[in-house]
Amino acid sequence: MLMSRQGADTHHLQTLVDAAGPSRFHVDWVHGLAQAAQIARDAGESEYDAVILHLDRAKDHHPNAIRAVSELFADIPLVICGTSDDEDAAVQTLTFGAQDYVVMENADANTLIRSIRFAIERKRMERQLQSLVHYDSLTRLPNRQLLLDRLTQAIAQATRQESLVGLLLLDLDRFKLVNDTLGHEFGDKLLADVALRVNDCIRDSDTLARLGGDEFVVVLNGINGAQDAAKVARKIIDRLSKPVVIEGHEVFVTTSIGISLFPNDGMDKNALITNADVAMYRAKEEGRNHFQFYTYGMNASTVEQLTLENDLRRAIERDELLLHYQPQIRLPDRRVIGVEALVRWQHPELGLVPPARFIPIAEETGLIVPIGQWVLQKACAQAKEWLDSGMPPVVVSVNMSSRQFHQEDMLRTVTDALEESGLSADQLSLEITESSLMKNPEDAVVTLRLLHNMGIGIAIDDFGTGYSSLAHLKRFPLQALKIDRSFINDVTENSEDAAIVRAIVAMAHSLNLKVVAEGVELEKQLEFLEDAECDEIQGFLISKPVPAADFAAKFLNCIAEPA
Ligand code: C2E
Ligand code: MG
Ligand code: MG
Repeated sequence: MLMSRQGADTHHLQTLVDAAGPSRFHVDWVHGLAQAAQIARDAGESEYDAVILHLDRAKDHHPNAIRAVSELFADIPLVICGTSDDEDAAVQTLTFGAQDYVVMENADANTLIRSIRFAIERKRMERQLQSLVHYDSLTRLPNRQLLLDRLTQAIAQATRQESLVGLLLLDLDRFKLVNDTLGHEFGDKLLADVALRVNDCIRDSDTLARLGGDEFVVVLNGINGAQDAAKVARKIIDRLSKPVVIEGHEVFVTTSIGISLFPNDGMDKNALITNADVAMYRAKEEGRNHFQFYTYGMNASTVEQLTLENDLRRAIERDELLLHYQPQIRLPDRRVIGVEALVRWQHPELGLVPPARFIPIAEETGLIVPIGQWVLQKACAQAKEWLDSGMPPVVVSVNMSSRQFHQEDMLRTVTDALEESGLSADQLSLEITESSLMKNPEDAVVTLRLLHNMGIGIAIDDFGTGYSSLAHLKRFPLQALKIDRSFINDVTENSEDAAIVRAIVAMAHSLNLKVVAEGVELEKQLEFLEDAECDEIQGFLISKPVPAADFAAKFLNCIAEPA
């Protein structure tokens, strides 16, 4: 197609084209931008192999004209025919979106043809490069970068039209398992197949992109409400859950989908992707093959949790964990007979993080296993160090979380800690909650017997907050019950709490268990507990949990003589 300005002198160009041989080309002449725009609209682009733009006056709005034409026919090679009086313009031409520039004064038919060929080849290479930069080579889908472009456009359009953009983030369930068991090549085929099937569930105007790995994103343009996004999510889940046969294997894939909406869940592309990701994780938690809308509040906790989780993974190797020790004293002589080891996390930015904030995360992620191991080793080594320094023996109590307790090699961890430190078993006590015993009472009985036979003490922590069933506890070889501090708080004011504490003490004693009261902050609470014949107490009244050195310095002279 040949384009020139309205009324421009195209005589020379016309001779060149004629000389090149009209039979070899089909040429359409177009005059002016308006007509070009019309052609671009009506005829479609692919009809032409090249567009030749004739500029008869070098300085005549070149950049704008070239840009306009190259945008109108974005996929067609563009050759500019101009004069030689503006060399710069010739060079700049290329940056404005054309592929070649022909200087008309010296051109003959061959020059023109060569130039057109050159432009076609150049355009092809540009396209190839574009595709490498913007498309995923495995699935041929837009990659992250192109996705971000498209998302930006979708947001701009939705803003103008006051509509919504839906962003669906898909993550295949258990894809790693497929990859590991059937091989990467098979995994790749499956991904390509998933891409095709998901593509069937969306409109041409929507974008399906691959973020990498087994993560895909669908951008739904100009939707009217959440239900539109839900409909597509359901369709995708449905479509994917049908089995496919690849290389003779019948495979089922399922996917979890997180959905965020513009503008409800984020004003920019990054927020939308992050929030869809948060929702996707929630969907996985809820059992996979699910979709989940992002809701405000998911984010704060989960993002914080994810960061904390990542940091926690490194906390052990970076030596950021430490133990504080809180003395336990016996009544009525108030001598120190033990310490409880309580873990702390010295976070590089957040400072000292209390266990209530990271133990649940550690439990959830399994990090509690290495952490618990570290605590055991450290606490045993510390108790031995005190002993070696001449301190009378104190029992060190270590908290054991549910997951840790049910770990297969828990016993091994405990014996290793004792062996490595050289601490004798009767100087170690483990604090376990009732609920963690009740998760699997049969196993718990066996495990506790083994620990008990080794000489290790077992205490029920936070007693009163769980089942509080002494009848159940009868079966376990226990040494102590620790009454939860919520009963101690008001024990001198609240007669019900007082009655409960007295009852626990009486029943525990009938089972030959010692009673330890936690969270004693006031002298009058201590007096009440003395009167109730509680055996031991622990609380801020005596001391907060303190570093090992502080404990030694402050309590060396208060430790009970060994019996
Ligand atoms: P816990 O085992 O019941 O520990 C007693 C908690 O009560 C400690 O909180 C202690 O600082 C606090 N406390 C002691 N006396 C008082 C008092 O008079 N008043 C008040 N208000 N609080 C008092 P901490 O150190 O924050 O630990 C909280 C919980 O975290 C522990 O409860 C325990 O369940 C868990 N934890 C701590 N260290 C470890 C550990 O190494 N492993 C595991 N699995 N859990 C741990
Ligand atoms: Mg405890
Ligand atoms: Mg407790």
